[in-house]
Amino acid sequence: LPRLPVFEAIARHDPESTVVIHSNSGRRFRYGELLGDVCKVRNRLYETAGRDEIDGERVAFLVENSYDYVVTLLAILAAKSIAVPLSPAFPAPELQYILNHSEALMLLSSGKFASKAQEVLKTELDVQPAHLQLSKFQGGGAHEKVSLDKTGAASAGMMLYTSGTTNRPKGVLLPQSVMTAQARSLLQAWEYAPSDHLLHVLPLHHIHGTINAIFTPLFSGSTIEFLFPFNADAVWRRFAAPFLPRDQEHGRPESPPQEKITFFTAVPTIYSRLLTTHKALPPGMQRATRTAISPANLRLAISGSAALPTPIKRAWADLSGGNVLLERFGMTEVGMALSCGLATADRVDGSVGWPLPGVEARLVDVDTHTVLERGQERDADGRERVGEIQLRGPTIFEAYWRNPEATAREFADSKDGRGQWFKTGDVAVRRTVDGAGASTAPSQRDWARGADLYFILGRRSADIIKSGGEKVSALEVEREMLALPQVAEVAVLAVPSGKWGQKVGAVVILDKENVPEGKWSPLEMRRALKGQLASYKIPQVLRLVDHIPRNAMGKINKKMLVREIFQDEFS
Ligand code: ATP
Ligand code: MG
Repeated sequence: LPRLPVFEAIARHDPESTVVIHSNSGRRFRYGELLGDVCKVRNRLYETAGRDEIDGERVAFLVENSYDYVVTLLAILAAKSIAVPLSPAFPAPELQYILNHSEALMLLSSGKFASKAQEVLKTELDVQPAHLQLSKFQGGGAHEKVSLDKTGAASAGMMLYTSGTTNRPKGVLLPQSVMTAQARSLLQAWEYAPSDHLLHVLPLHHIHGTINAIFTPLFSGSTIEFLFPFNADAVWRRFAAPFLPRDQEHGRPESPPQEKITFFTAVPTIYSRLLTTHKALPPGMQRATRTAISPANLRLAISGSAALPTPIKRAWADLSGGNVLLERFGMTEVGMALSCGLATADRVDGSVGWPLPGVEARLVDVDTHTVLERGQERDADGRERVGEIQLRGPTIFEAYWRNPEATAREFADSKDGRGQWFKTGDVAVRRTVDGAGASTAPSQRDWARGADLYFILGRRSADIIKSGGEKVSALEVEREMLALPQVAEVAVLAVPSGKWGQKVGAVVILDKENVPEGKWSPLEMRRALKGQLASYKIPQVLRLVDHIPRNAMGKINKKMLVREIFQDEFS
């Protein structure tokens, strides 16, 4: 195998320690068998391609959340090619779009996804990929000593498609060196350890599920347990398992795993789902799960991919006896960029923390385009200045796949000759918060002492509502509205207005427990928000709905939603 840092790390781990567990079956795989399996699948890739030089070629794969996925991802890197993970949840046309766009040389499928792959390949594509079907699970092999070559694999990498929240998904090329830099940054900040047991419930075609929850734990020798498909009750049962009296079933080799979960990472909608279902658990389960997620047992519970509503954060902390969710900010193009710290005191409500190790961040005033230096966070009138987050460093991607226009548009030149800045499109304010950064935890000492905190206001394109010369952050309004007992879910949108340019619109799902009659008038809403929000920020239009459409990562396409719900306001 080529000498990739991830392979070197895997080769150093205790071969007997568990790398992957399948939660449902209890099947386990050890670090010692991983590289042998990677070699085997790498060779199958060469066989299928009919040559053993497929450097830089895109290999798409449809593999379920399992040991096979980990082996496949690493095998593609080992072949010095580019791994393109696909989501089984995508309809065929979406998969065909990605196969075409990435010009995939090969489509690898495994187990029950083989038929989906066959269906997708029935249609003629621009470049017809070869189909490699892995019929049986890898693993179960003897521990093999795999030797690493002297040379690396510069052409190896991963290509992820953005969530498509604002537009057609863009292909983001992450060279193996960038993936490694992202992993190293997270290792330092979140202190992954061999003793960590991570419960994995996320989709595997996004950076959150792949880099944070697979690639990085492989570096630290942690255990990854896949619970798939996601099911809130099953997650609670799994959390509880080590804290319930053992029954006869337990202790068998293939019985449900019993290790304590120490590391959990999810999106806000998953936390919300867990909180709702918890109420319906039997009392014994409620007790066991509360113990399981207490700070003493669950070392780290992380939220990201979308803004974490403060009520969810508070409810989780209450339920767990003080386990405060750690919020971080990331995107496909940059991996994780900002994160709160390991010390609970640093997890300030509404903040995504500060730049991760190795990440350089700046705020650029959205109006004047000047860099907001430290100390310039307020204007002459004492108002907070809003800036776009721009980033650079070894963790940032280099280019969009086959889209030089977007690449040119999203990077800003720097005058200091130390590389271009990537324009995230997300806007934020930066605040100095008392107590933050004063922590003495080792990780803080290295990367965040005295740092100022970033507060995300939303996407420049969709979340900043320009109303009568004022700028309103949709996220800020959503945060305040979610704190109201009447509101279960909300999306705040920019609605076109002849008079104001744009006006603030709210789409609300009512909380059935607190509003049983299901009625809430704009007047009642305004009264409830008075004193919480400046009057120009209070929504001028309100619509009550039963459902707010979100994608797999819990994100809302606001451009689409606003046209759907406020049709009548568009002329
Ligand atoms: P597309 O680029 O295709 O429109 P997308 O931007 O949703 O889709 P991703 O790369 O998956 O695709 O998501 C990154 C975005 O998610 C960020 O730009 C930001 O808007 C949002 N995001 C991530 N973490 C947070 C967070 N903690 N708080 C608020 N927003 C977040
Ligand atoms: Mg994006």
